[in-house]
Formats: sequence, C-alpha cells, structure tokens
Amino acid sequence: MNREIHEVLFSEEIIAQKVKELGNKITSDYQKQEELIVIGVLKGANIFLGDLVRQIQLSVYIDFMAVSSYGNSTFSSGIVRILKDLDLEIEGKHVLIVEDIVDTGLTLKYLTENLKSRNVASLKICSLLDKPFRRKCDLNLDYIGFEIPDAFIVGYGIDYAEKYRNLPYIATIKE
Ligand code: 5GP
Repeated sequence: MNREIHEVLFSEEIIAQKVKELGNKITSDYQKQEELIVIGVLKGANIFLGDLVRQIQLSVYIDFMAVSSYGNSTFSSGIVRILKDLDLEIEGKHVLIVEDIVDTGLTLKYLTENLKSRNVASLKICSLLDKPFRRKCDLNLDYIGFEIPDAFIVGYGIDYAEKYRNLPYIATIKE
C-alpha cells in the first residue's frame, strides 16, 4: 500500500505531542470565553481536528466547511467555491479555523474574509502544517504545528488522489 512513501517527516508520537501542546495553548488562550466554535476544513483537517478538540479543555462546538479551489489541483487559484457551508450560526461567537496545511494561503484568506463578514466575536487560525515559503498573500496564522519545506506531503488526514489519509504519520511521497 505504501510504495509511494518517500520519507516520514513526523511520526505518530511527535504529532500527538504537538497536538497536545496546541490544545493546551488554545485552552489557556480561550480560558475567559464561555465557548469556542472550531471549524474544520474538509477533508484534510478532519483527523487533526478530531485529535485537537480532545486536547482542548473548554466547551467546544464543532462544524465543518468544504471548499474547492478553482484551477488545477497543484496550484491554488485563490478563487474558492464553498461546497459545504456551516450548520452552526457563528455571529457573535469565538471561532477557530482548523486547517491541515497552509500553502499559498489563498484558500484561508478567502475563508477568513468570508467568516469575518458574518460578524464573529473573534477569528483565529490553527494549522498543523505551514509552508511559509510558498505564501502568496498576507495571512496571520495564530497556531502552527510544524513548518515544512516545499514538498508534497501525505498522511494524518492529508491525501494524494484520496489515498493515504489514514496513515498515522506525515510523510513525503516519491515524485
Ligand atoms: P493554499 O490555498 O494555502 O495554497 O492551499 C492549501 C490546501 O492545499 C491544503 O488545505 C491542501 O488541501 C492543499 N495542499 C497544500 N500543500 C499540500 C501537500 O503538500 N499535500 C497535499 N496533499 N495537499 C496540499
């Protein structure tokens, strides 16, 4: 099954440790808020979100959005279509977007502007992985798990042609 895996970047244990740290930090930062709405971006953030919310010791509500970027699959065009919108009402709420990877940043730029226009009390971003050298817009990430170089990665929810989402680790794949 794993013929295309090149190198493991982050093991299951290292990821678990990082998710715990992020959960602790989020718990302490939102201590004064009564509740937090955590929004996962499908499908890649699903597994990260599932682990992260179990490390947050607050009253958490969970919702998901699905988006698709126009253009081809390897380059983000910045024009984003919402395939699934939120079920929860977020006006006046504290909202945390959970993402798997930020690359050009164009997807999240669009999403944050869209969600801010719904008059949230606050909006922050938590991404497990960040490729800062690929950024094409100004985007502030509030919580980052790991910075990674410009390589195509899979695992822990992140796919290649819908495969490898169930790998417990994060790895690069062969060209
Ligand atoms: P952005 O708009 O920041 O360029 O796009 C971010 C999205 O591109 C991520 O949510 C993810 O779906 C996809 N992406 C970026 N880098 C990678 C990667 O290395 N591997 C995979 N599988 N998807 C990636």
